[in-house]
Amino acid sequence: MHITFHGAVREVTGSMHLVEANGSRILLDCGLFQGRRKESAEKNRSFPFDGGTVDHVVLSHAHIDHSGRIPLLTSSNFTGRVTCTRPTADACKYLLMDSAKIQESDANYLNYKILRSFLHGQVNSADPSISQREKKNIRAMLKKSAHELDVECIRELQERHQLERVTPLYTIGDAERALGCLEGYPYNYPVPVGDNVYCSFYDAGHILGSAFVFLRIKENGRNYTIGFTGDVGRFNTPILRDPTLEFREEDRDVDLFIMETTYGDREHEAGADLMEKLREVLIQTFSQGGTVVVPAFAFGRTQEILYYIRELYDRNEVPKVPVYVDSPLAINLTEVTRAHPETYDAAIHERFLEKGKNPFLFDQLRFTPSVEESMDLMKDESPHIVISASGMCEMGRILHHLRYKVHDPRNTILAVGFMAENTLGRKMLELGLEYERSGRAGPPPVVKILNKVYPLKARVARMDGFSAHADKRGLAKLVRNSNLRAKRIALVHGEESQSLAFSRYLAGEGRQAFVPQKGERIEIA
Ligand SMILES: [Zn+2]
Repeated sequence: MHITFHGAVREVTGSMHLVEANGSRILLDCGLFQGRRKESAEKNRSFPFDGGTVDHVVLSHAHIDHSGRIPLLTSSNFTGRVTCTRPTADACKYLLMDSAKIQESDANYLNYKILRSFLHGQVNSADPSISQREKKNIRAMLKKSAHELDVECIRELQERHQLERVTPLYTIGDAERALGCLEGYPYNYPVPVGDNVYCSFYDAGHILGSAFVFLRIKENGRNYTIGFTGDVGRFNTPILRDPTLEFREEDRDVDLFIMETTYGDREHEAGADLMEKLREVLIQTFSQGGTVVVPAFAFGRTQEILYYIRELYDRNEVPKVPVYVDSPLAINLTEVTRAHPETYDAAIHERFLEKGKNPFLFDQLRFTPSVEESMDLMKDESPHIVISASGMCEMGRILHHLRYKVHDPRNTILAVGFMAENTLGRKMLELGLEYERSGRAGPPPVVKILNKVYPLKARVARMDGFSAHADKRGLAKLVRNSNLRAKRIALVHGEESQSLAFSRYLAGEGRQAFVPQKGERIEIA
């Protein structure tokens, strides 16, 4: 039996490992590499094997860096199935379609840029064969933005002038085909995924539907077990059950345990009281008649924030203003979360489910799927909370809410997630917090939203302490306190320094751990 580590090896995206056992070729995850556009486009474009030789995919969870290349595989000559948990299958319906839309619009934008630079050349050209009239037409075209120019028109011009054409990594049609291959199963229920190969899912506590994947394989009369964590969640957080520590007897003797190490060398700060911080922000904003705008990732963070707001409302600790989720993706994923109460932890069962309630369904919660509803909401000046995407304010409806709300000092923009460098979210956060620290002295900072400059008079606040990944202590707890007996541990899904540091830590604990190289194939004897 062999395992090849193809992705998320000494880096954090592109999760993918190939198991060859008893004549079956099983792929653990099939994730997208993310990062700099050009570099990741090259890494994503092709597989290091022929897709047709893969019999089965087992997916740990729905995040795109674990699932995002499935449409590329299923639109090659792969004819197998993709097995995952039921909530993962449901979440993928929206996440893979969204990913395909992003791939298509990225390609459209690049084609627009290629055409534009060509047309600029034409306008400035001294070539007498280009008439003044043609130049006038081209100038008119150059005034149009990417959204105003028809995709077909761009394609036609590129073809006529024989320009380079960028094709999307995959299309919406490819994603639809991929969804037809997905099969969702319950946790703790062995599913056949190959000849004498069974797969079981255990709670990983990372995101709705996330699972530790255990493969039980019989080859040449011998039993083997491969454990794969996907991403490991945190212990003692609300909503989802904790990462599993108790495994069934038949899965406990693990020949190879493949672990993520995003925070292999880091410890999360002692949890600031998130609820208290949120309470403070809501009371302060509503006492001035303002609105709270929350940019948040559609899957996970949006639902966590909703849960905290619900808690404060139930305790009557804040004014119960309407709460809007205004992002089609976040709305759909909140509905998926609501539809899978079987994944919630015991506390939620006791507080909500046993009383016939669901934490993601309450009187003040409203969804605004249509563009019209969203536009009405942007102009609404009565106090409310709006949660919208994208999380780093790079695109999506959040930009319009900001456009209408940043200039008013009664409002608050509440950052609840990581903001990467060079994003509008990061810029607002830095400028806004600096302005608060200065006691709001002098003129307010300015921010550019959708090509227009606005004064950032709204308050900017931050809730730290959210993370969907276990830190070093959590990972160590999984190894030390679970009932697994792992013979060898392979460390993946971490920057090299994080994986290597955790490997040294495990070695110190007397464990056999290693950090594979990308493409390395090992034998399990
Ligand atoms: Zn993840």
